[in-house]
Amino acid sequence: MDHSDRGIDRRRVLTFGGGLLGLAALGPALWPTRSAAAATLAPSSLSPEEALKRLLDGNQRFTGHHLEHPDQSEERVLELTQSQHPFATVLSCADSRVAAEIIFDQGLGDIFDVRVAGNIATPEVVGSIEYAVELLETPLLMVLGHERCGAVTAAVKNEPLPGDIGTFVQAILPAVNQVKGQPGDAVDNAVTANVRYQVEQVLRSSLVRDRQQSGQLQVVGARYDLDTGTVTLVA
Ligand SMILES: [Zn+2]
Repeated sequence: MDHSDRGIDRRRVLTFGGGLLGLAALGPALWPTRSAAAATLAPSSLSPEEALKRLLDGNQRFTGHHLEHPDQSEERVLELTQSQHPFATVLSCADSRVAAEIIFDQGLGDIFDVRVAGNIATPEVVGSIEYAVELLETPLLMVLGHERCGAVTAAVKNEPLPGDIGTFVQAILPAVNQVKGQPGDAVDNAVTANVRYQVEQVLRSSLVRDRQQSGQLQVVGARYDLDTGTVTLVA
């Protein structure tokens, strides 16, 4: 490192130090602003149809490479400090390639994510969904499967797996059996069947069903195409 580099480092340190001092001085004054922002955050005003359009529009931006990265600013972080009112609940697979905020081009506080291998509606998952739907009042619930899902593939093969890895297989098997022997790719058929089956499982919840029947909630099933990034409704 030469002398001028050290000079730059020193200036950076001084700026940083000054910034900290400035923040400390402003600290108490910032709190009312944060509280005011939190207080103005209300449950999503979107209708179920508008919520679905917002998700699908975001997916179009994702596939078209016109990302807007909404709701990821410092202001948004502050807005969410005291509460959250996401406009959608998405039950999707834990697969690293199917991150809802990215494939739908959304941000913080927009999507209540419930992720588990095979997007299965086990009791804990249904409880999480009920929390989002009933208490956070999300107007949309999407069960999202995806192409070449490892969990669905494991259920189609139905072979022993080590540890607890295969626990999700039992929850997917009924869907696999529904499409057994049908023409086409067995895993691909099972992916779609599993989305529809898990939608049925979620709708066994009276809380979810009541909100759907009152028109406050729309429940849809969809699948994500790994090759194109496109989300297509299947239920
Ligand atoms: Zn998967």
